[in-house]
Amino acid sequence: MTSPSTGPDTPEQSLDPQDWAEFRRLSHAMLDAALDHMQGATERPVWKPVPEEVKTALAGPLPMEGQGTAQVCEDLIQQVLPYATGNTHPRFFGWVHGAGTPGGVIAETMAAAMNANLGGRDHGAIYVERQVIDWCRQLFDFPETASGLVVSGTSVATLIALTAARHQKAGYDVRREGIRPEEGRLVGYTSAEAHSCVARTFDMMGLGMEALRNVAVDADYRMDIGALRAAIEADLAAGLKPFCVTGSPATVNSGAIDDLDAIADVCQEYGLWFHVDGAFGAVAALSETFRPRMKGIARADSIAFDFHKWMHVQYDAGFVLIRDEAAHREAFTLRPEYLTAAPRGLAGGNPWFCEYGPELSRGFRALKVWFALKEHGIKRIAEKVEDNCRQAAYLGQLVQAHPDLELSAPVALNICCFRFVVPGLAVEDLNTLNSEIVMDLQESGVAAPSTTKLGGVTSIRVNITNHRTTTADMDLLVKAVVELGRQAARD
Ligand SMILES: *Cc1c(COP(=O)(O)O)cnc(C)c1O
Repeated sequence: MTSPSTGPDTPEQSLDPQDWAEFRRLSHAMLDAALDHMQGATERPVWKPVPEEVKTALAGPLPMEGQGTAQVCEDLIQQVLPYATGNTHPRFFGWVHGAGTPGGVIAETMAAAMNANLGGRDHGAIYVERQVIDWCRQLFDFPETASGLVVSGTSVATLIALTAARHQKAGYDVRREGIRPEEGRLVGYTSAEAHSCVARTFDMMGLGMEALRNVAVDADYRMDIGALRAAIEADLAAGLKPFCVTGSPATVNSGAIDDLDAIADVCQEYGLWFHVDGAFGAVAALSETFRPRMKGIARADSIAFDFHKWMHVQYDAGFVLIRDEAAHREAFTLRPEYLTAAPRGLAGGNPWFCEYGPELSRGFRALKVWFALKEHGIKRIAEKVEDNCRQAAYLGQLVQAHPDLELSAPVALNICCFRFVVPGLAVEDLNTLNSEIVMDLQESGVAAPSTTKLGGVTSIRVNITNHRTTTADMDLLVKAVVELGRQAARD
């Protein structure tokens, strides 16, 4: 008999610390550093560029030998922690970013400790995600039979929702056969102001981005419903197959609110899937003030939205909610032998979440969502939504009252787009000037708005999805913009 082979020199030692006491000490110090970082969010500059030496350090060779926990912690503190995006700061106004909460640090730490895989099976984490799904149904008045999934964000949620729509509306087994061109091209609709994730979804589904019709908007940047009908009629007359419309409770550029009820009517009339890109806009519907203007949301076939934006859950966490559970599951399920469910034991827990989206292995994102909703409650989150909208409206008033500033679009919600103007300066030069102001502001560390184009002109875009922002931050922003603008105009 040959002796069983033994491993190399190292005995069968795990990757766990050899000295747990020392590991605990380090971990506690790191937790303190994390909390210091959050507690100090208001005092730091919003953003600072990553220094060259840090970039160099972060472009090092593949580590063949371990450097040990203490060294990596040290590197993390020196090289990573100080150079965050800045969205935990009250004057981070760029794009649409949530601000995170200290509670998220606890939830993320626990999720790491459990290291759960939520692809399926029967374990505690599954019931946490089911709880979150149930809460989301209640949030948007969806029936108990609706299904959902916690995902990385609205981009993936949109891909899942519109894949279900395609499967449901194609009229043949599109999963098995792929797209049949002879059946008439599948086409969909959204407004010209919609987020690019809708177009990217059309691309990824193999439909082509041109199959997504960018319907014209009205003067307030809302989808023109007459133009939507006309586009559908034209496509039907051409023998194409319209299958879905995506509405926005808040457009990303200016926060314009589409008439979702009217879109729902059109979808009903033509038998189309009604999808809502509610990334941050859907969260406004939690507030009594905005809910009436968004009541069409409850009529959607699917809603995509983010927890990591206006619900302040740490990145990344979004959600897809689908009215018809069967339509959702049929678009994704595929269970070979090695993924068969058992009537009991760990392989129970049917249906498995892997049947509702592209991911088989799935992390425990649901925990931080569960934690945040329980910790703060919907009422409090809705209050913060209203605070932010009031701040945006206040900023709009400051802009309108200032001779050097001009509002670029109405302030419908939480976004205020404006620009610094100099009488007599050509549009091109004004565009450059406003881009310069934004870059200067970001580099100064005072505030971080972004830019966008509305009606072809560059605007300073201030999005407020931040529970730390105050009205005083608006005054400070305007002061800084005007100072930088006047200085740049002189140069
Ligand atoms: C942010 C955003 C998206 C994309 O969401 P991610 O979470 O970044 O994937 C889609 N639509 C709108 C309106 C958004 O603001």
